Amino acid sequence: MKIDSLNEEIRKCKNCELWKTALHKVFGEGDLNARVMIVVQAPGKIENEEGKMFLGPSGKVLDELFEKAGVRREQFYMTNLIKCMLPKYRKPKKKEIEACSKFLDREIEIINPEIIVPLGYYATKYIMDKYGIKLPEEFYGKLFLGEKKIYPVHHPASLLYHEELREKMILEYKNGI
Ligand code: SF4
Repeated sequence: MKIDSLNEEIRKCKNCELWKTALHKVFGEGDLNARVMIVVQAPGKIENEEGKMFLGPSGKVLDELFEKAGVRREQFYMTNLIKCMLPKYRKPKKKEIEACSKFLDREIEIINPEIIVPLGYYATKYIMDKYGIKLPEEFYGKLFLGEKKIYPVHHPASLLYHEELREKMILEYKNGI
C-alpha cells in the first residue's frame, strides 16, 4: 500500500536533525478513506515514547472534545506536520518544516480528504500557505474554501493551559468536525 511505503520512508528519514533525538517517528493513523484529515504540529513526549498519535494529556482533551462533538477519532485520518518530537517542545524551525512537510503533502495526496482540520498555529500556517490562502488574524473556528476546505481549530493542549477557552473550543469542534 502507498501509505505503508511512505511510512517506511519516514521511518528511515534523516532529512533534518530531529531523528537524532526521536525515540519513534510518529506516523499518521486512522481511516485511510476519511473525509476529514486532522493535522497537528508534532508528537509530544508520550507519543515519542510509544510511537502513536495523541496518547498524552492532549489526547485526553482531544477525545473529550470529540465526544462533545459526537465523533470518534477512528473516523478521521490524523497526522503530524513534523514526524519527530521537537526537543523541549520548542517551536519548529523553518528548515524542519521544509524537510518534513513533503511527507504530509504525500499523505494528503494519498488520503485525498475533503476537509483538512489543522490543529494549532504551525499546522494551520503550513496548510494555508500550501493552498495559497493568506492567514488572517482570526482563523480558529472559521471555514476557508479553496482547492480543499480548511477548518483550523485550537490545539487541544490550549485547554490544558487556558481553561477559559473550554466553551469556545467545544463549539469549534462541534461546528466543524
Ligand atoms: S522530523 Fe521529519 S524530516 Fe526530520 S528526521 Fe524526522 S521524519 Fe525526517
